[in-house]
Amino acid sequence: MKALDELNFDNRFAALGDVFSTHVLPQPLDAPRLVVASDAAMALLDLDPSQAREEVFAQLFGGHKLWAEAEPRAMVYSGHQFGHYNPQLGDGRGLLLGEVYNDAGEHWDLHLKGAGQTPYSRMGDGRAVLRSSIREFLASEALAALGIPSSRALCVIGSDTPVWREKQERGATLLRLAHSHVRFGSFEYFYYTRQPEQLQKLVDHVIAAHYPECLEQPQPYLALFRSIVERNAELIAQWQAYGFCHGVMNTDNMSILGITFDFGPFAFLDDFDAGFICNHSDHEGRYSFSNQVPIAHWNLSALGQALVNLVEVEALREALALFLPLYQAHYLDLMRRRLGLSTAQDGDLALVERLLGLMQLGAVDYNLFFRRLGEQPAPQALGKVRDDFVDLAGFDQWGHDYLARIASEDAAGRTARMNAVNPLYVLRNYLAQKAIDAAEDGNYEEVRRLHQVLARPFEEQAGMQAYAERPPEWGKHLEISCSS
Ligand code: AMP
Ligand code: MG
Repeated sequence: MKALDELNFDNRFAALGDVFSTHVLPQPLDAPRLVVASDAAMALLDLDPSQAREEVFAQLFGGHKLWAEAEPRAMVYSGHQFGHYNPQLGDGRGLLLGEVYNDAGEHWDLHLKGAGQTPYSRMGDGRAVLRSSIREFLASEALAALGIPSSRALCVIGSDTPVWREKQERGATLLRLAHSHVRFGSFEYFYYTRQPEQLQKLVDHVIAAHYPECLEQPQPYLALFRSIVERNAELIAQWQAYGFCHGVMNTDNMSILGITFDFGPFAFLDDFDAGFICNHSDHEGRYSFSNQVPIAHWNLSALGQALVNLVEVEALREALALFLPLYQAHYLDLMRRRLGLSTAQDGDLALVERLLGLMQLGAVDYNLFFRRLGEQPAPQALGKVRDDFVDLAGFDQWGHDYLARIASEDAAGRTARMNAVNPLYVLRNYLAQKAIDAAEDGNYEEVRRLHQVLARPFEEQAGMQAYAERPPEWGKHLEISCSS
């Protein structure tokens, strides 16, 4: 266990050179203060929460102090945004402060989002506002607690620095942790600027640092692409199974590690709606909930394109073709578990699809349904959730088939098994919004409490019933824009 000023640095990405990133210092925030910090994220760095002093967080992540061994860099990348190639993106408001390693030898990037302008800021101010920083903090840690791979968040720092969005707001920073901040768009940048040697250097770095097992394969570059396809298939299956909508699946927001990354106007579904669009600016629904599957495939093909000089196109195509079947297998596996099924049978996918169709019609709360279905005995559980459906005859038929299906299995431990995969507490937009409203008034209690509740989503927590309720009507239709 150590304190923040005792971290061990090993800045491997910075060592790749100035073609890949640019040295930039963080710009200090006015009157920085700690809004919220994650004990679980601290543990990843072997930090002792009891030694965590708020002033030290505020100074380091509010841009006033820096470790001597840190080497802050803005990374360059490009990417496809809403299907269109944007040749020049890059860290416009975030900096890789450095890489640290923990006692287990794992490397973690310390990335400070909202750290001020960089050469990649284009017209932007380099800042992040408090509300979006809190949203990313809560989502990163909530996803991780659900077991869904994600970048992590160590803390949010608030400030008095004015930042102009639709109205005047206040600047904040988020300290993000990930094993790597390389994106699909990082590879695309070197491919489209015709720098094959630099591209190869970046790919070699990614393999050495993050996919060393690929070096044992006959074609390491192909093995890397296949691994990224596999990890994304698994990730997207988890998003779909848990009702997570990313919102801006541009290739610059896709991590080469297959983790949830670069959150914008994300949402967890309240009512089930396959066509749900969480991003107010996504007029055509390119990134709607159900489109996340084909879009992930599209993004992987954009990544494959960037690798055509390193791997045979036919081999890339074959690897890409693994995506959909792998996705479907993972998804079905997760949905079986959510329904309390421990064996695989032929009609299971149809059972899931029929249920989703009924939920869509009845606007049934997606995550609560599974939690309540897990109560014992099952016929009573079905009777309780039935009222939420509109097509009652359809639901009764489904319930009949479901009971027949679970009768073919051992019912022992059903509730415990289902409760272990079906969260009681989900980061609903309205819960985040209430915490943000309070934080904007200078009260951080609610954001801290919500974070604590979401850190143990599967466990019923005393006095926290309000966090497990369906949202009020006003809370279902909050408009979340791209501005952050
Ligand atoms: P995002 O939508 O946050 O994934 O960002 C897309 C691109 O815009 C990235 O290159 C960001 O660094 C850049 N960007 C977003 N917001 C700002 C900002 N306020 N100032 C400078 N650059 C920004
Ligand atoms: Mg981004």
